[in-house]
Amino acid sequence: MPHALQLPPAPALPFAASELTFPVGRIWCVGRNYTAHTREMGADPARDPPFFFAKPATALVPAASGAGVVLPYPRATNNLHHEVELVVAIGERGATDAADPLAWIAGFAVGLDLTRRDIQAGLKEKGLPWEMAKAFDRSAVVGPLAIANDSVRLDPQTPIGLWVNEVKRQHGTLAEMIWPVADLLQHLQALVDVLPGDLVFTGTPAGVGPLLPGDRVRGEVEGLPAVEFMVGDR
Ligand code: MN
Repeated sequence: MPHALQLPPAPALPFAASELTFPVGRIWCVGRNYTAHTREMGADPARDPPFFFAKPATALVPAASGAGVVLPYPRATNNLHHEVELVVAIGERGATDAADPLAWIAGFAVGLDLTRRDIQAGLKEKGLPWEMAKAFDRSAVVGPLAIANDSVRLDPQTPIGLWVNEVKRQHGTLAEMIWPVADLLQHLQALVDVLPGDLVFTGTPAGVGPLLPGDRVRGEVEGLPAVEFMVGDR
């Protein structure tokens, strides 16, 4: 039966070294997964188990370095924050080992979990859900995917960082994750089926802060293609 209306093209991410694209089904994010960032948000890193929230796949903005992506400053906020994160992309799971979550990963990328921090603060205060702080349009900006293979191992000492107008704002290493990627995926799988097409944002190191119109933003995880964009006008 024909559909009653036509949706925009399905969200997808390019692979850096392939003609193929990765169709994005869902976007999962973890809160407070780096010790220093957990402290800067006023929480206790030792006590909190990982918790997850989601963004719609339509929040995705592919933003390869050099592509000239301009992201309009989102409405309804005066405090848009950057959170640079390692993003893992879940591939076909048929042939993979259910007990080895790292085998589910088809690719790695660098992403920005953009956050309307002022809205989040208000929601937290009232004990309300975070969607309008996190799941807004164009809130998941992601660079091209590197295919997960032997040459992309991402050992724990891998640096992760974010620059605004060439000034370093966030930095850390993947070793600072409270819950490493395999543990995160196990926790997520205990709550939902982790499916092919899922992107998982794995948390941000310390140094989150505001973005302003005109800012040039670059996120890096060593060994992966960078994510890069400019913040446009309000
Ligand atoms: Mn985040």
